[in-house]
Amino acid sequence: MCINKSYDCKNCPNQIHNVDPLKVKEVAKAAVNIQVNGEDIKRAYGCGRVYVSFLKLRKTSKQAKALESVGFNITRRPHSTQYHIYVGYDNATGRQLAYGKKLAKHFNDNDICCYCDGDDD
Ligand SMILES: [Zn+2]
Repeated sequence: MCINKSYDCKNCPNQIHNVDPLKVKEVAKAAVNIQVNGEDIKRAYGCGRVYVSFLKLRKTSKQAKALESVGFNITRRPHSTQYHIYVGYDNATGRQLAYGKKLAKHFNDNDICCYCDGDDD
């Protein structure tokens, strides 16, 4: 869910492709330090591939390059033409899902529209 608290973000001004790439890099840099603790994990029940999903993020965009420059893995999801941060595979520990949720919250808190999502096998 985005900062606008809306699931309909097609025309959202906070979509990542509208955000200054320098700001994306700054926010992403701070996100690298995010860690999950036992309290986060306890509330997450994950299984499968976890992503932080952005609408309209293109692989060749400056915003995608900004995310990659700090070490995030940008990839497509199955059945999607857009690129997303691949968080990792959650083997039912809840750890990757908890981390993805925290990452998404960080981007939302900094006015960049995204949400944490997953794909089962
Ligand atoms: Zn939005």
